[in-house]
Amino acid sequence: MSSNFRSWGTIPHPPQETLRPFWVSELADLFANQAQSLAVGNGRSYGDSCLLQDHPVIQTTQLNRIIRFDRQTGVIQVEPGVKLCDLLTVVVPAGWFLPVTPGTSLATVGGAVANDVHGKNHHTDGSLGCHVLSLDLLTSDRALRTCTQTVHTDLFNATIGGLGLTGIITAVELQLIPINTSWLDVRYQTFPNLEEFARLSTEARDDYRYTVAWMDCATPGSAGRGVLISANHSEQGDLTVGTAAAKFSVPMNCPKYTLNKYSIRAFNALYYQLQKRKEDGVRHEHYQPYFYPLDAIGHWNRVYGKKGFHQYQFLVPLDAMPVMSDILNTITNSGMGSFLAVLKEFGDIASPGLLSFPRPGYCLALDFSERGEKTAALISELDARVREAGGAAYPAKDKLMSADSFQQYYPQWTAFRQHIDPVCSSDFWQRVSNTSVSTHQTQQPDKL
Ligand SMILES: Cc1cc2nc3c(=O)[nH]c(=O)nc-3n(C[C@H](O)[C@H](O)[C@H](O)COP(=O)(O)OP(=O)(O)OC[C@H]3O[C@@H](n4cnc5c(N)ncnc54)[C@H](O)[C@@H]3O)c2cc1C
Repeated sequence: MSSNFRSWGTIPHPPQETLRPFWVSELADLFANQAQSLAVGNGRSYGDSCLLQDHPVIQTTQLNRIIRFDRQTGVIQVEPGVKLCDLLTVVVPAGWFLPVTPGTSLATVGGAVANDVHGKNHHTDGSLGCHVLSLDLLTSDRALRTCTQTVHTDLFNATIGGLGLTGIITAVELQLIPINTSWLDVRYQTFPNLEEFARLSTEARDDYRYTVAWMDCATPGSAGRGVLISANHSEQGDLTVGTAAAKFSVPMNCPKYTLNKYSIRAFNALYYQLQKRKEDGVRHEHYQPYFYPLDAIGHWNRVYGKKGFHQYQFLVPLDAMPVMSDILNTITNSGMGSFLAVLKEFGDIASPGLLSFPRPGYCLALDFSERGEKTAALISELDARVREAGGAAYPAKDKLMSADSFQQYYPQWTAFRQHIDPVCSSDFWQRVSNTSVSTHQTQQPDKL
């Protein structure tokens, strides 16, 4: 048992007791013996969906074996604690890639399924849950079920994006996508405002598998400018594997004066100019820096200092671009704008996940230093606008979502809660469900 597990936002919280089993066969006893618990991966969620105050979490990072990999069909089955970077080390040389990847390769497969993560290809491939062929789920009554789209379907749908609340995922079977090289052909296009972003994004979505934009949220008068980055897997190059090891690390928490509206504006202006220089044609980039630029900087979350930070990620429907502009103004005027704001158009490929976040719309993610009431008030104001617009915020990034907001963003939560394991809970869930007592699942177990 240790107590150093934290979520990525590093907002201080009481020490989190952590159990780290080595074998899947240890899990049934470990899980059944807890009054309350939660399976967690590598703590790359920003808020409190991977924390459980006063009870131990079960961290799966040592359950990191590849169970089966068919090089002909690209079907792979892994234990839940396999990190995406380690999976890529095995599959890329064989000409396969993750069907969907988040912006860090340090997430585990189990954690990625439990958040139903999305990537830069949501408009073409949907979220990760769309590519899960099967998952094995252990519940606290020691039952192990293999769930698919046709077997234990309700539990399958509840577990994808199910925030770890339906039990412990002990294996995941994924369909990978074929690649000829580990390189991408990448196009950079700057835009002056949100309207132009929308136009460029619509233009790019049929021709590019991956699209994402960085946007300036901090500079008054220039907020809304940015760069749209569109890419396809390249036919030119080799199948080299990238390294997820950081090139350098932030050695300690930065003092709070490092981050202020002037340094954030200066960063945004510099970043914009650097990206503008790349507009000179198609660039050839390896998947590692293209998909995972922040993994190159170890402990980058320390930039926000010892009080930590929030990431707020939300989406609004496609016809609510004026609301996005409004939200952008609110953020810029607050002087709390973010270093890196990431903007993306999501498509209409539905996930099987009951609590899945992605849906058609424009999605923006940005970071705010923790400044207590001031940050809470800003996020609450943003939440009010997102609710009014019929949008949603992403639990994987959240520490402040109210029960009302959650229940509006995720109307299927009432169907979902039928599938919660009685032992499972999280700080996030206790806040948004207005309850500290889990309800019971109804499916018949096949005893281990
Ligand atoms: C730099 C960076 C970029 C990111 N970019 C994106 C992005 O582009 N898109 C995106 O969607 N997300 C993104 N994220 C968020 C991150 O991908 C997700 O939060 C991911 O789920 C974290 O995985 P993890 O292994 O660290 O899981 P944790 O954060 O430890 O846990 C996440 C959730 O999964 C549950 N869980 C973990 N393992 C299991 C298991 N075996 N069984 C059942 N439940 C389990 C936990 O209970 C928790 O609810 C990013 C994060 C970072 C730090």
